[in-house]
Amino acid sequence: MDRERLIDLMGEIIPDEKRILTDQADLYSYSYDASFGFFVPDIVVQPKATEEVAKVMKLANQFEIPVYPRGQGTSLSGGPLPVKGGIVLDLSRWDQNLEIDSEDMVAIVSPGVITGNINAKAMEKGLIYPPDPSSSNIATIGGNLAENAGGPRGLKYGVTKDYVIGLEVVTPEGEIIRTGGRTVKNVTGYDLTKLIVGSEGTLGVITEAILRLYPKPASTQTLMALFDDLVDSGRAISKVLNSGILPAKMEIMDQASIQAVEAYRPLGLPTDVEALILIELDGHPMAIADEMLKVQEVCKEVGVREVKVAATSEEAEKLWRARKLVSPAIVRVKPTKISEDATVPRSKIPAMFQRLKEIKDKYNLDLVVFGHAGDGNLHPNIIADKRNQEEMKRVEMAVEEIFTAAIELGGTLSGEHGIGTMKAPFMEMELGEVGLDMMKRIKQSWDPKNILNPGKIFPEIGQRLVLTDE
Ligand SMILES: Cc1cc2nc3c(=O)[nH]c(=O)nc-3n(C[C@H](O)[C@H](O)[C@H](O)COP(=O)(O)OP(=O)(O)OC[C@H]3O[C@@H](n4cnc5c(N)ncnc54)[C@H](O)[C@@H]3O)c2cc1C
Repeated sequence: MDRERLIDLMGEIIPDEKRILTDQADLYSYSYDASFGFFVPDIVVQPKATEEVAKVMKLANQFEIPVYPRGQGTSLSGGPLPVKGGIVLDLSRWDQNLEIDSEDMVAIVSPGVITGNINAKAMEKGLIYPPDPSSSNIATIGGNLAENAGGPRGLKYGVTKDYVIGLEVVTPEGEIIRTGGRTVKNVTGYDLTKLIVGSEGTLGVITEAILRLYPKPASTQTLMALFDDLVDSGRAISKVLNSGILPAKMEIMDQASIQAVEAYRPLGLPTDVEALILIELDGHPMAIADEMLKVQEVCKEVGVREVKVAATSEEAEKLWRARKLVSPAIVRVKPTKISEDATVPRSKIPAMFQRLKEIKDKYNLDLVVFGHAGDGNLHPNIIADKRNQEEMKRVEMAVEEIFTAAIELGGTLSGEHGIGTMKAPFMEMELGEVGLDMMKRIKQSWDPKNILNPGKIFPEIGQRLVLTDE
């Protein structure tokens, strides 16, 4: 269908013409996310009602036009990129509904609500929404649901999927369905809620979610453990977790990320250690006091240099701010950041650190390691300059080796950032031919015309990771 006709038909669906974007400048604003690649859509629409989404999907189905759902575009795996042109469905403007029901202990939210706002509103009522991706102040709940986002608190509290009990979804063929509901327990039929969560916008458009809330913990305490050896810090993580303590958060920063943060916003972190671990304990104050002593003991056993306990909530806040600053700080070293989130079983954290050290030396790259170490979800980030094509070739080879190392250690390609375009070429390595085929069959039954977010998750023939302009 020609573009003018498409714009006319969209006008019949979306009553407010300001929510239909067709100018080149606007289309370019939707051509990228926080990963790699640049693809300009034909049109962008900003729905604010389920019926509008359903009609857009019906139209797209009739004329076989690709549709790309999008939240705030913070995906690190290429999820919302309109790789085959067509329609971008910008759901970030649809943020009107954020209801906290303290009796049922649930939040009911529209897809464009910023995740951090859900927790902030729940806290006012003595509750928490635990999933806390580092991007929670900019990313939408729709994007979090589609990517099954995690965060530091994932260690103790799990990830987005553990908090979703009901969804409203528009199918690729334009039908409106409800999955799950408001009850904590529900085993009626297949669990479509969990199938949609993490499906990266390939099976349906999420138009409403019902999220579980938990009581706010009575108190929290933060510790910082300093290590002269990165591999020792990995041992400390495994040992703490085997000592019967489950911290709320356990995050690692290696020397390169500490130095980058100190160069960017000096917070007084020691720059001569090889790694530091930040630990947050939460629960009853007496239990926390006991756990703090135990964590200190365990760290001593693996040769910690020092364990510092945050004396005040301001001091704790400052330490966690340092962790949040890693991403903005490291891009000041070089402009291109390749963020991976390969994840390994907890027992393999020291081995993964060793493999990352070897990969860094072999390819002579700025490889920084930080992230949610407590659940094995390390974030090896390579800092490079994409104008340097020779360096980017080395990056491609290093990324491939990072994935291989994670899989060989019994881990996974992605703990939370999703597959999108970036990891699609490696899917078979983890899932095997039959495993991947079963997923393709699910996609085909939901979306027979392959119009919803095509070009994602599933590798195309001969597809490989390309970060250069070749
Ligand atoms: C600095 C930084 C820190 C980050 N930290 C974390 C972290 O700690 N943990 C983590 O998990 N991720 C993290 N991320 C990645 C990213 O923020 C998450 O993947 C987030 O969930 C994306 O949300 P978004 O609103 O930006 O969605 P987008 O990037 O716009 O879209 C992401 C995917 O969701 C789909 N989608 C969006 N809305 C819908 C909907 N309503 N229905 C169906 N599909 C939809 C899109 O098609 C796409 O596939 C980080 C990113 C950055 C830039």
